[in-house]
Amino acid sequence: MIEIEFSSAIAIFIFLTVFIVFVIWLFTEKKKALGLLSPESRFLWQCNICTYVYIDSRHNAISQCPRCNSYNKKSSESA
Ligand SMILES: [Zn+2]
Repeated sequence: MIEIEFSSAIAIFIFLTVFIVFVIWLFTEKKKALGLLSPESRFLWQCNICTYVYIDSRHNAISQCPRCNSYNKKSSESA
């Protein structure tokens, strides 16, 4: 049987816990950056003219606003 001191066991336990939390945080941030966390947000559009927010899953680059019929380009900024 492996014998370790109590303080060493506590230190290893704390280190492993912090490491696991760090790995989970890292993956969550990566998913957020890639936009995988909420796929619906990719279809969310905001009109530049009337600021109307609508969902259009058929278009990727340019979409037409259903309220004022103006064309909107996908903004590069992530909300
Ligand atoms: Zn509009």
